[in-house]
Amino acid sequence: HAKENGRNNYQFFTTELNTRAVQRHTLKRNLRRAVERREFGLQYQARIDLQTGKLVGAEALLRWHHPEHGLMMPMQFIPIAEESGMIGTIGQWVLREACIQAQAWHQSGLPLLPISVNISPAEFRNKEFLPNLAGILEETALPPHSLELELTESVLLQNAETIAITLHDLKDMGVQLSIDDFGTGYHNLSYLKHFPIDALKIDQSFVHDVNDDTDDATIVRAIVSMADSLKLRTIAEGVETTEHLAFLQALQCSEGQGYFFGRPVDADEFLTILERGETPQGEYPNEGVTFVD
Ligand code: C2E
Ligand code: MG
Ligand code: MG
Ligand code: MG
Repeated sequence: HAKENGRNNYQFFTTELNTRAVQRHTLKRNLRRAVERREFGLQYQARIDLQTGKLVGAEALLRWHHPEHGLMMPMQFIPIAEESGMIGTIGQWVLREACIQAQAWHQSGLPLLPISVNISPAEFRNKEFLPNLAGILEETALPPHSLELELTESVLLQNAETIAITLHDLKDMGVQLSIDDFGTGYHNLSYLKHFPIDALKIDQSFVHDVNDDTDDATIVRAIVSMADSLKLRTIAEGVETTEHLAFLQALQCSEGQGYFFGRPVDADEFLTILERGETPQGEYPNEGVTFVD
């Protein structure tokens, strides 16, 4: 009986593996056509100044409207795009689309809103990345200082000299640079001293239990304090509750992003948020104050 069972399990297992391999293969093929077929879209999520409650930016998040599978999230296809070399084309599309959108909102009469775009390591490493970005900025006439590139720590693990040159070139172009998911990589932090970084995004895994878990609280406190000393902005990801907000405000964490302020939404829905232009729920010590820098 056991033997029979084992065999069934084995068959189930290989069938499942096969299905997954086929799915991956199919997705890879589908992905290749997705740009031309206009299946990608961006959603935007607000970034809030935690002292004033003002909306100070938006992060562009990629969505794939797959003709058969429906809405697909980045985790379901970005890895496939990376390993099959398609991330360059997709990343280009994302950058251009985000820059065009930021300009469109601005041209409809709203203040220019800083926009952040996630850059995958494979994309960043490509020699074409910098010239392509320069081309997009020129083509869209977006002021470079209103574009922020979100890099992960793994990007900075490559050849330090090459990375430093690219990062300095990007700073010379005028774009902002932040480290996404900060605290999740096990890295030597000395890169923070050598690389021209502007902001650290504190990973949501630390923020989630920050009010109950003393280890998480300690880590978040340490990141904000270190960032302060290094004159870097801090952006807390995954702010979901009033308690999260209060904890981060007490630490003087610069900005927050998360479901508490709003979920990522399509461009037209985000426009209504921009037009309302109101302080989100919660209490802000310097509400309504405008800082001139
Ligand atoms: P990320 O850059 O760290 O983005 C934050 C993720 O957390 C987003 O998931 C967002 O929807 C989600 N999120 C925001 N607020 C909350 C919250 O309060 N609670 C929780 N639990 N989650 C929240 P999403 O859109 O599924 O993106 C996942 C990841 O995929 C991103 O993580 C980023 O690494 C990657 N990604 C997204 N768009 C792009 C892109 O255009 N290019 C590349 N290379 N990667 C992208
Ligand atoms: Mg990000
Ligand atoms: Mg992140
Ligand atoms: Mg993340």
